[in-house]
Amino acid sequence: MRGVTAARKARREPAPKQLPLVGAHVSIAGGVDLAPARAVAIGANVLQIFTKTPNQWREPVISAGQAAAFRAALRASGMQFAAAHDSYLINLASPDRALRTRSVASFIAELRRCDALGLDALCSHPGNFMDDRERGLARNADAIAEALDAVPTRTRLLLELTAGQGTVLGSTFDEMAGLIARVPAPLRRRVGVCFDTAHVFAAGYDLVGDYDGVWRQFARTIGYRRLGMIHINDSQAPLGSRRDRHEVIGKGAMGTEPFRRIMNDPQLARIPKILETPKGENDLNDRRTLRLLRRFAAG
Ligand SMILES: [Zn+2]
Ligand SMILES: [Zn+2]
Repeated sequence: MRGVTAARKARREPAPKQLPLVGAHVSIAGGVDLAPARAVAIGANVLQIFTKTPNQWREPVISAGQAAAFRAALRASGMQFAAAHDSYLINLASPDRALRTRSVASFIAELRRCDALGLDALCSHPGNFMDDRERGLARNADAIAEALDAVPTRTRLLLELTAGQGTVLGSTFDEMAGLIARVPAPLRRRVGVCFDTAHVFAAGYDLVGDYDGVWRQFARTIGYRRLGMIHINDSQAPLGSRRDRHEVIGKGAMGTEPFRRIMNDPQLARIPKILETPKGENDLNDRRTLRLLRRFAAG
């Protein structure tokens, strides 16, 4: 291999471009082990799943057999990265003791399933503070620490930047950095962020008019080393609207330019990019959009 590189250098050829890491959230209907093939079918090389029904508290236990079947399917699929997204019911910042206890238990179960499945990351929204923002941040960080402490795993926790609807935490880079800083140091190493383009845009960061400025701000506050995944979604909701409405790329308020920039941004080249937008009949939107993103990357 070394010889090949030397020969290429001698001819001043650029190194071959690695395939961009693009994929989508895929269904686990019929069994979690069926998800990797669905990702392959739409042309993905990275994927995201739910490990349970996200709007129910029921916590399915993944059997050793199911986990083994999933791991084998994932290996066979050639996926480069696999993440889960946690349940929508979990609120780790809640002032309501019963809800918070239930949320922590559910979150621990999420981490355990990710560990059993050998997933690279668990993506989780910061909670809703309900009463007081500072106290909510403290509760959220404590709950994260409790769960990470309970489940030693190589699955990285990725806190997702939010649109800022209602009392949800984590819609500004500063607040997200502050939340992560509150997690005790040894556990903090296992925490990163997920950058959802639709949320960040709705939260008021102008990826259309000031792409470089937004990422400079991200680098200064959170830092690229924390960036574990990008949710690459257009937004139906306008800039600063604080509404979480995903749209197919090219059909929303952001246009295609920020996505072309992301696909050509060397800082983001090895960050997995996942679609969470309406799939269309037979996943046609996903197939088309992944093709478009790969075309952007090809220049
Ligand atoms: Zn999310
Ligand atoms: Zn997202």
